[in-house]
Order: sequence, then C-alpha cells, then structure tokens
Amino acid sequence: MIELPFTKYSGMFDDYSFTVEDRFLRYVQVDTQSDPNSTTQPSTEKQKNLSRMLVEELKQMGLQDAILDEWGYVYATIPSNTTKEVPVICFCAHVDTSPDCSGAQVKPIVHRNYDGRKLVLPDDKEVVITTEEHPYLKKKIGEDIITASGTTLLGADDKAGVAVIMDMVNYLLTHPDISHGEVKILFTPDEEIGRGVDKVDLKKLGAKFSYTLDAGERGAFEDETFSADGATVTFYGISAHPGYAKGKLVNAIKVAADFVERLPKNHFSPETTDGREGFVHPVQISGIAEKATVQFIVRDFQTGKLTEYENFLKEKMEETVASFPGSRGEFVVKEQYRNMKEVLDRHPEVSEYAREAIQRAGVSVINMSARGGTDGSRLSFMGLPTPNLFTGEMAFHGKHEYVSVQDMQKSVETIVHLVMVWEEKSQ
Ligand SMILES: [Zn+2]
Repeated sequence: MIELPFTKYSGMFDDYSFTVEDRFLRYVQVDTQSDPNSTTQPSTEKQKNLSRMLVEELKQMGLQDAILDEWGYVYATIPSNTTKEVPVICFCAHVDTSPDCSGAQVKPIVHRNYDGRKLVLPDDKEVVITTEEHPYLKKKIGEDIITASGTTLLGADDKAGVAVIMDMVNYLLTHPDISHGEVKILFTPDEEIGRGVDKVDLKKLGAKFSYTLDAGERGAFEDETFSADGATVTFYGISAHPGYAKGKLVNAIKVAADFVERLPKNHFSPETTDGREGFVHPVQISGIAEKATVQFIVRDFQTGKLTEYENFLKEKMEETVASFPGSRGEFVVKEQYRNMKEVLDRHPEVSEYAREAIQRAGVSVINMSARGGTDGSRLSFMGLPTPNLFTGEMAFHGKHEYVSVQDMQKSVETIVHLVMVWEEKSQ
C-alpha cells in the first residue's frame, strides 16, 4: 500500500474533545450586530459583550495578557515553547455580524447526523434550507449542521472563525508537547461595515504574518481579492427656461441616460460575470438638467486591467458627449483597494504553509479568489500579509446561514497544523 504523504498526522485529534461547537453555540447567542450609520468606535457597544467573554475565556485557558481595548479589539499571546526563531504569526476573526439581517436573540439549532432533507426553520416555516438552493449541503450528509431558527441570521460569519481560534488555543495549551513559536490572537469589531482594521494597533500586535478565519467551504483558501477603483462620470448640460429652451437647452439627465444605455448588456457587469472575470458597475446616478453624475465601481483581479476598463468608460463618455452638442463630460478615478496577492507573492511561504496545513488535516485545498475586499487585503497593505482560511460558514448575511460542526473541527485541525508547520520550517 502506498502511504499518502500526510497520513502520519491523522491520529493527532483522535483523543481530543473539540470545544468548537459548544463555544460557537454560546457566542452566536450574543448580539454583536454592527451599524454602518454609527460614528462611534466600535460602531455598537454591544460587540464588546462578546469580546469581554472571549478575554475571560482566554484568561481561564491561561493567556494572562488577553485584553480588550477601548476600540473593541481583543489581543492575546500564546507564548513560544521552542528554542527556534519562529516568525510571530497571528490568527484573526471578527466578532460583529452583518447589519443586513437581525442578530438579536439568535436561537441556534443543531441538526445531528444531517440526512439531506429540507431544513424547515421552526420560528418562520417560510424559511427553508434545501440542497437544491445550497448544493454544498449535499456534501454535508452525515455531519451535524447548525442553523438559526428562522427569524435571525446565525452569525457563523464570523463566530465560526472566533470559535475555531479559541479551540486552537485550547488544543495548544492542553498539548504542551506540540512545539510552536509565539502565536498572536486578534478579534476585531466592525468588519461587516468595512471598518474592521481602522483602529488596529499592528505594533502592539507584533505579528509578522497573519491569517483571517473567515472563508466558507472545507478546504477553501483565499490569497487574493479584487483590485478596486471608483470612477465618477459627470455630464454638464446647458440649462434654460423650459418655456423658451428651443435650440438652447441640453439636458444632462438625458446625456447620462444615453451614456448608461451604451454600456454592454451581456458582459462586463456583476450580473453577467463570475470566477476571475472583472466588471464595471454603475452604483449611483443623480442629477438635474444642468449636471448629472454616474458613479461606478471598477473591479478585476489584475490591477492593470482596471485602467483598460476605465478607458472603455471614458470612450463611451466621449461618444455620448459627441452626440449631444453643447454638453461636456468629466471623468475622475479614485483608487479603493488592491489585490492582496501583490503583497502575498512577496512572502510565498505564508500561503505555502497554509496549503500544507490544510492537507495535513486530510483536506483538499480549494484555491479561491474573493470577489470583494477583505480585512485581510487591508491588513496586507498595512504591512501584515493576511490570507483567508476556511471555517465552514455558508450562506452568510441571511436567515439561511448554516455551518457544519465537522467543518469547524477541520478548521481547528488546520490551524494547529499551521503553527506546527511554521515551527518545523524555522531554524
Ligand atoms: Zn466575515
């Protein structure tokens, strides 16, 4: 029989009682919804209720330096137990849940030994989770699935990540024979409203590389995000009293409408692309006869392509203006964020070790690209290279959200292996 390269790691968790499920069930019952309309930091004070619990539990497990700061960040350190010089790595997850769906009084339900049936959620029988709409669920037959009860989201995004990291801490502290370098823990607020790293103190954190635990299906590994620009196209018309406007008025609203009409209908847009394709997407239009504005987001994995897309928009703008004599157009581009792969490619070991750890856990790596930005992409450009690892969280930001207990356990195994890989590869 040929021995598979990673089977020697398969017994490591045989006698371990995972704590990830219990933790998860407790954490999701704490309402931590963030609020995009708030100007405070964190955006909602209630997020600290969970963060305080986490600090308490980290201290109980033995991490004496665990603290919650005034901005809502939790920092903690697992001290090194090796004589090797291992780069300090960090594991990061966010405590807040999406403002798109209620996160108050979440009642988690564990569907043991899932058999493929439709999951009708008891508090609103209209909310039904099916394998037709959620094909990943088909792969989860025989596993234990956790859902909410029908009136709220579940909050697996990202309390699955939080619980996974907490269980990893528990494993390492109860298995002192496992050699590892210094490992940092970071729990952030307000990721869902795009402010997750606004007040993070990277000096205080003191990590060289980091991993967010906030990706979906088992084995998923994300080391790239979109590169993103915003583009604003402004049209100027000529206003005149409408009763006496013949031959004088040029209506900017009509110019803008004509411009939008010229955009391609079957490609180049979010509704017609997926995978690695980019797009241009009008997100807002406003105006009066004198002046009208169309705002775009421009997205692609290759930063260089953004300019191509922007040139295309500019051409369409010029064509439009040419067919409305007297009108004029203005084109402004603003950089939003960049593909974190540009940073991660300079530190290939960060992704290599993560892929190896996933395989040691007996899982096949699924390389994925995030069709959006993540806290990890911002951290990467702030100097902390941060790809994203799976936790099992699925169908997030709504009442159909679910997670498999066994996926969360595989995620715990993965990051335990990951700290071991970093130690083994160091001198
Ligand atoms: Zn998330």
